[in-house]
Amino acid sequence: MAWECPHLEQSDDSCRRLKQACVPGRKGCALPRNLKFAVPPEVRLAEMTQKNNQSKTSHE
Ligand code: SF4
Repeated sequence: MAWECPHLEQSDDSCRRLKQACVPGRKGCALPRNLKFAVPPEVRLAEMTQKNNQSKTSHE
């Protein structure tokens, strides 16, 4: 079953509610807090931050 968040901006996978990247379950996300994720949102956020930092340093 597919589910689509009404706050998702599909053109760039960002959250219109938070004005940041969509990471389901992140702080401020509209999803119920008791949901369990295969990869916790904290881990996904840490991975995204790490990737962003790597791409910044590779362009310097
Ligand atoms: S972060 Fe949460 S509220 Fe925002 S688009 Fe993603 S699922 Fe929806």
